[in-house]
Amino acid sequence: MEEKNLDFIRTIISEDVASQKNEGRVHTRFPPEPNGYLHLGHAKSICLNFGIANEFNGLCNLRLDDTNPSAEKVEYARAIQEDVKWLGFDWDDRLFHASDYFQQLYEWAVQLINEGKAYVCELSFEEMRKHRGTLTEPGKNSPYRERERSESLDLFERMKAGEFEEGSKTLRVKIDMHSPNLNMRDPVIYRILHQEHPETGDKWKIYPSYDFAHGQSDSLEGITHSLCTLEFEHHRPLYDWFCQNLQIHHPQQIEFARLNLNYTIMSKRKMLRLVEEKHVDGWDDPRMPTLSGMRRRGYTASAIRSFCEKVGLAKRENVIEMELLEFCLREDLNKKAHRRLGVLEPLKLTISNYPDDQVEELDAVNNPEDPSAGTRKITFSKHLFIDRNDFMEDPPKKFFRMAVGKEVRLKYAYYVTCKEVVKGEDGKIMELICEYDPQSRGGGTPDERKVKGTIQWVDSTTAINPEIRLYDRLFKAPNPDDVEEGKDFLSNLNPDSLTSLSSALVEKSITDLKAAEPFQLERIGYFTVDSKSKSPDSLVLNRTVAMRDSWAKKHLK
Ligand code: ATP
Ligand code: MG
Repeated sequence: MEEKNLDFIRTIISEDVASQKNEGRVHTRFPPEPNGYLHLGHAKSICLNFGIANEFNGLCNLRLDDTNPSAEKVEYARAIQEDVKWLGFDWDDRLFHASDYFQQLYEWAVQLINEGKAYVCELSFEEMRKHRGTLTEPGKNSPYRERERSESLDLFERMKAGEFEEGSKTLRVKIDMHSPNLNMRDPVIYRILHQEHPETGDKWKIYPSYDFAHGQSDSLEGITHSLCTLEFEHHRPLYDWFCQNLQIHHPQQIEFARLNLNYTIMSKRKMLRLVEEKHVDGWDDPRMPTLSGMRRRGYTASAIRSFCEKVGLAKRENVIEMELLEFCLREDLNKKAHRRLGVLEPLKLTISNYPDDQVEELDAVNNPEDPSAGTRKITFSKHLFIDRNDFMEDPPKKFFRMAVGKEVRLKYAYYVTCKEVVKGEDGKIMELICEYDPQSRGGGTPDERKVKGTIQWVDSTTAINPEIRLYDRLFKAPNPDDVEEGKDFLSNLNPDSLTSLSSALVEKSITDLKAAEPFQLERIGYFTVDSKSKSPDSLVLNRTVAMRDSWAKKHLK
């Protein structure tokens, strides 16, 4: 571990290692609840927990905190594992579930009852809320608080046996109804739930609360540092209480600020609404801040890791700008992505002095940033297409793209000069008639004449026509939760977050690319083949991110 620039968590851990706390061991965990797909905020926690384990020669567990079978699904548990692996981390044989510990948790609950520290309460949830008090008012003791231990024990056994209805009874710990911390006012540690569990089937009719399971699961796994987000700060005294009263290993909890990003949301509950109400095409919709959505969109794991590293750790809530994420993404893609040619709005270009039936092959560089990526062949013929916005009839002075009488370079091909504009009856430009200089093959001439503009093109004899999906921000407000009274975050959805283009043309070699393999359509942006694209004939390309100057901003309303 390098000494310089340690964040506050790494500083604490370095000191603990130096002082041989926990025999110098470092053991962390990433503990998602399998009630939704992982989002970018989780990536930050994954990078932190697995990253620290790697840096300190320690271990990091993956644990599914599956205490609420009514919200959890096997589908989510699977997706979580896939996403953590994709992000580049490995838990080896240490995949655990809070449900692995249900028996132990139950025994601890019995222990607390026997010691007079827990009781079965028969207040309804509504009554319990009233008894609980508020931040400014103390709570009131439950009338069941002082019942005999033997009675609580008997009732708890019968709760476990499934004798009572859901909501009719709970097991609560006896702490302090006057505590300024609401979490300490006799919290519920077990509730009745007649629900099958994905891991334990119908074995249990009672389930531990998240708070009763989370800290003790960490303890059972020998976790040394329980890293979690700030909202758990006020739960820490409760976790401490459990560890002290059960006399078990005490992991050190350290809180850090959640990752928030503008123009999006980081909450499984809100993402679930987007999915269920069909505002998006599933959890892996390329506009979603989920890891599966970002992967489908074309984000690389390394770009996300680099983003998490750049964001760093804070002790206070803050909001990171989307531009930083896109910067990390472009930086990574620029190094890796192969270049390809394509035009989003094709305009026909005919080379009048090119032989009618000739098709030749030219060499195109795959990645100027990486010579080892080599070259590929692209075809050239008399009939080509360029992007409509690369031609202007009355160009301003600094327009270096195509205009009548101006010579430009067709990338990797020839110099051409537009001689004539063909228009349709409505005055719309239909075709450009050009002449090429046969001496300029590959982009140079014997007289070393310079041209200022270079534009991309595709060849009509081989180009293919995929559907292109351009994505914009999912929300139109920097903070989607900033809404008028009576409205919710959905009112801030951006109605133009998806634009589908049907007439684009791209070079054929794109059919050789795999889903999630990023490529750049030169001068347009970074793209990837959609993983749900069915066949090369019905190819769908997702735009991962625009080049710096956003094409959509200029061309789409
Ligand atoms: P959500 O609010 O989206 O449901 P959560 O915190 O309830 O998120 P968990 O499954 O409990 O989701 O999260 C697993 C771990 O990821 C926790 O340790 C949590 O602190 C961390 N985590 C969740 N969201 C963020 C975030 N935005 N930034 C950093 N860490 C996060
Ligand atoms: Mg949660």
